[in-house]
Amino acid sequence: MTQSEREMIRRVILEGTEFVLVCHLDPDGDAIGSLLGFGLSLEAAGKKVKFISPDGVPRNYTFLPGAARVKKELETMARGTVAIALDCADLGRTGEVGAMLQDQPHFINVDHHPTNTNFGRWNIVDDSAAATAELAFFLIQELGLPLTLDVGICLYTGIHTDTGGFRYENTTARSHEVAMALLNLGVKPALITDYVYDQKPLTELRLLAGALQRLQVSEDGLLAWISLPRSVLTTCGTDDTSGLINYPRMVAGVEFAFLFKEDEDGTVRVSLRSRQVDVSRLAVQFGGGGHARAAGCTVPGSLTTVEEAVLTVARKMLQEAKGNA
Ligand code: 5GP
Ligand code: MN
Repeated sequence: MTQSEREMIRRVILEGTEFVLVCHLDPDGDAIGSLLGFGLSLEAAGKKVKFISPDGVPRNYTFLPGAARVKKELETMARGTVAIALDCADLGRTGEVGAMLQDQPHFINVDHHPTNTNFGRWNIVDDSAAATAELAFFLIQELGLPLTLDVGICLYTGIHTDTGGFRYENTTARSHEVAMALLNLGVKPALITDYVYDQKPLTELRLLAGALQRLQVSEDGLLAWISLPRSVLTTCGTDDTSGLINYPRMVAGVEFAFLFKEDEDGTVRVSLRSRQVDVSRLAVQFGGGGHARAAGCTVPGSLTTVEEAVLTVARKMLQEAKGNA
């Protein structure tokens, strides 16, 4: 981004009065955290803000300040509204609202996915950031917008969840510096992590038990996956599979981990994780995207056909990686 582009973005945000902020489908902590964190900061600066998450707010993020304000749909958007997509790698990730956003002269894309398509009129895309919440923090600082405790709680949640609690390799000194600044605002990490990770309804624990029973590992021990048909989700009484991908990833020696979840509309939602191979390349082949070590895609077809197709490509990628080593 050139200096003059940066200056334009600055002016658009500081002079804007009405904002629509949108995060991605199937949102995670960074999607909701950066959406709310940046939006609440704009609001504290006196702006009018609408918060859109096309798939709502997952249960474990409903404690976040402003969560009750989040809507799934946007009815109207006045021309001149500043539209901001947060944590979305491509326009499709914003869901149906995408068409309305694209029509706005002031459409800003704030994201950290390496597969980002620069779909905005202006793009603040930096894949060295561990989380979009980290980028939102620097934007707030640069623009001199209010950094309130509520903003801090949301941004901390985004950074904590996208770094797997400061464990993944995207974690940098900068992530810790931002976290430090947020703790200095008064953010209490233990309160946040208790809500986000440690309080689960019984239905989700039952699903975890069901998912672990379905955990499979390939003969060579390099691939591990869980496939969840609708029947398992219905029996357990929950559709919330977040966090389950961590279990195949946890099997010692595994390079590729997958979660296949059968959706109601004839598609399969796939989560991918890896230790060394760039898994976003695999996701892109199936119409998705993401990061080198964490990516996702939604693939039409039955659970078994999608599982087989994705695992076949994964095996090929592993062979290629071995050949290059
Ligand atoms: P998850 O498996 O947790 O849903 O997603 C892992 C990462 O990949 C996240 O950073 C997420 O934003 C990204 N991702 C997941 N699904 C998709 C998708 O369908 N398209 C793109 N471009 N990125 C995705
Ligand atoms: Mn993110």
